[in-house]
Amino acid sequence: MMTAYLEPLRFLIYNERAIKGEKSEGFGGYCSCGGVMSQKSWHVNGNIRILVSECESCWNAMLTAFKNKDFIERREVRVFKRNELTDFLSEILSQAELEAIVKRRNGENYNYNAFNRAKKKLEKIGIDIDTILSELIF
Ligand SMILES: [Zn+2]
Repeated sequence: MMTAYLEPLRFLIYNERAIKGEKSEGFGGYCSCGGVMSQKSWHVNGNIRILVSECESCWNAMLTAFKNKDFIERREVRVFKRNELTDFLSEILSQAELEAIVKRRNGENYNYNAFNRAKKKLEKIGIDIDTILSELIF
């Protein structure tokens, strides 16, 4: 699974887990383009702390992960804004599952089994389906 950042929910999807972040500000390191990065948020999962930062020149987003105080890795992050959340869902759900979510969100008849499968998939990575549904725009 990709490393993703769901901006409206401030969720980082890292090693197949969604980790909620705390908004932060300040210097976030240097980008590979040479630009200055600014901090977006910090995410804590047990003894792992992860900083997500964004380049002020090219808008690339990166994560920097630490275990206790030790550096583990730096990795590019794909950012999904509110109008891109369906793109994120289409990458982790099947067509039928996504369709069920969209239909339910629009108050139409939907495939109940497909919706439940989608719900389970999202729960597995730690995302509550109602939380993401409330952020979806079409
Ligand atoms: Zn850059």
